[in-house]
Amino acid sequence: MAENDAHVVCAHCGAVNRASRAKLAEGNPPSCGRCGKPLFDGAIEAADDETFQRIVARTTLPILVDFWAEWCGPCKMMAPQFAAAAQRLEPRARFLKVDTERLRETAARYRIQSIPTLILIRDGREQARQAGAVDANTILRWAAGHGVA
Ligand code: ZN
Repeated sequence: MAENDAHVVCAHCGAVNRASRAKLAEGNPPSCGRCGKPLFDGAIEAADDETFQRIVARTTLPILVDFWAEWCGPCKMMAPQFAAAAQRLEPRARFLKVDTERLRETAARYRIQSIPTLILIRDGREQARQAGAVDANTILRWAAGHGVA
């Protein structure tokens, strides 16, 4: 039974939610059992470093992370593309955004040298990264090339 459930950590409050893989596959993602906010919402900002680490440690789905900052023009251009890719892939994968000015510990941990940078995390480990602004189709192709489709 347990292996039929994915673990999805809420980006808002850090609660670990169990979600039936069947329901996820139907495109029927649940809301957080603790705070009631959506677990999948087309690229959610990670609340803080601690929450992000918890998400990475406990989530059993592939996670795509967009590292960005308010002052970064290319990041702003890429944001709607990342959100569009999220709409296509969620809830088969998790889409998160990390504001590198706020989540400095996380940006340092992943040695982010330029933004936007896209990282694919699977089973708690970085599997691939892509630096520079890209469009939704490129994100989807890149993800598919790493087994996320
Ligand atoms: Zn929550």
